[in-house]
Amino acid sequence: MLSLYASHKTIYPRSVSGLFSNWRWGMVWLTQIIFYGLPWLEWGQRQAVLFDLASRRFYIFGLVLYPQDFIYLTGMLVIAALSLFLFTAVAGRLWCGYACPQTVYTEIFLWIEKKVEGDRSARMRRDAKPLSLDKVMRKSTKHFLWLAVALWTGFTFVGYFTPIKQHGIDFLQMSMGSWEVFWTFFYGFATYGNAGFMREQVCLHMCPYARFQSAMFDKDTLVVTYDAERGEPRGARSRRADPTQLNLGACVDCSLCVQVCPTGIDIRNGLQYECIGCGACVDVCDTVMDKMGYARGLIKYTTEHAMQQHWSQSQTLRHVLRPRILIYTAILAAIVMAMVTSLALRKPFKVNVIRDRGVMARMVEAGKIENVYRLQVMNATETDQRFKVTVSGLPGLAVTSSNELTVPATQARSLVVRAQLPPDMAPAGSHPIKFEIESIDMKVHDAEKSVFLVPN
Ligand code: SF4
Ligand code: SF4
Repeated sequence: MLSLYASHKTIYPRSVSGLFSNWRWGMVWLTQIIFYGLPWLEWGQRQAVLFDLASRRFYIFGLVLYPQDFIYLTGMLVIAALSLFLFTAVAGRLWCGYACPQTVYTEIFLWIEKKVEGDRSARMRRDAKPLSLDKVMRKSTKHFLWLAVALWTGFTFVGYFTPIKQHGIDFLQMSMGSWEVFWTFFYGFATYGNAGFMREQVCLHMCPYARFQSAMFDKDTLVVTYDAERGEPRGARSRRADPTQLNLGACVDCSLCVQVCPTGIDIRNGLQYECIGCGACVDVCDTVMDKMGYARGLIKYTTEHAMQQHWSQSQTLRHVLRPRILIYTAILAAIVMAMVTSLALRKPFKVNVIRDRGVMARMVEAGKIENVYRLQVMNATETDQRFKVTVSGLPGLAVTSSNELTVPATQARSLVVRAQLPPDMAPAGSHPIKFEIESIDMKVHDAEKSVFLVPN
């Protein structure tokens, strides 16, 4: 009977050092300094980066965004998606191997595990032994440290949505609000579970990107590849032995590439969907090649075409810069430029003109016709602003009510505006008009269209 259920085998990745491991640790430091550090930065009197959902204000250094600025979030998502397409087309699962939070936290948790329980073989030996005081102590210490990192991660995550200093005080005094409690512990628990226990299973079974990323590969995508032509037939031999005389390839069948693999695969079996492109097997195999006195690169980042055509490194890289990559790059650059320009030209206030439906067009003194509007002005800066409203579009049309308004920083206020038209200046019907709103302090103005109704 063939069982369709495969029980989970614990993977004990061996620690590794080398070029790609350094890159990964570089990314761990970079991403985590940003993630843990950013909420503590101050900008004037407030937190530099704060997504204040309760008051619907998103502060990003000098920028204050509102729900009306949703377009920028859409732009950011488009940029993120296109970047992912670009990086994947260039070098496969770069994101997975170096910057994905799952990889980054697993790396941190593995480092703690190694410091407390030792490297792969020590951990395997200890796990196979019955319970002892040493085992309990080490496991407890490891879980305590994991939980501390996880809780700090959950705390920091919430610090992006609620002022982190107050959140810290509330946390210590155990007086957090219900949603802060939920998200601090939920995010912390997810970090603890995913990086401590689930690890490669998240990549193999839960991550949607893992499912479709292979659709973005082609024969010129750089992927971690075992050079079977050079490595086979594999076999153990002494360092002094001549492999050609023994009819052996360069692979000494040490299995180190399998031992360091965080997803537990053997890259010598060819490209597999489980491979997250972390390069750990490249690093370890290079050290084996160095020890044996063979050329490095038995496992390397290369392309399918390069392997078939036996291209040099420079030839391979030239082919990586193919039209598809140039098109992705051009689109990405255009969107980034459009977004930066739009942010730079963004007006420091927003205006909405609403015709007062309760008060229709009416005749007032001296036969004038009056329409009433409500102008909602939103101050998108962090200083108070004074505004002046004028109207144009019909001869003699003028604002007859108070046309000045002060709006406090990051707030919105509305102003009821009466516009009057002298008699016989326009036929009955609906006429397009324009409200000009000027920020007196910032010397910036904006215009909003509306209509003026002239009754029969
Ligand atoms: S690390 Fe290199 S030499 Fe060792 S088994 Fe893997 S491919 Fe062969
Ligand atoms: S096969 Fe190599 S590159 Fe792929 S996940 Fe395993 S160690 Fe990382």
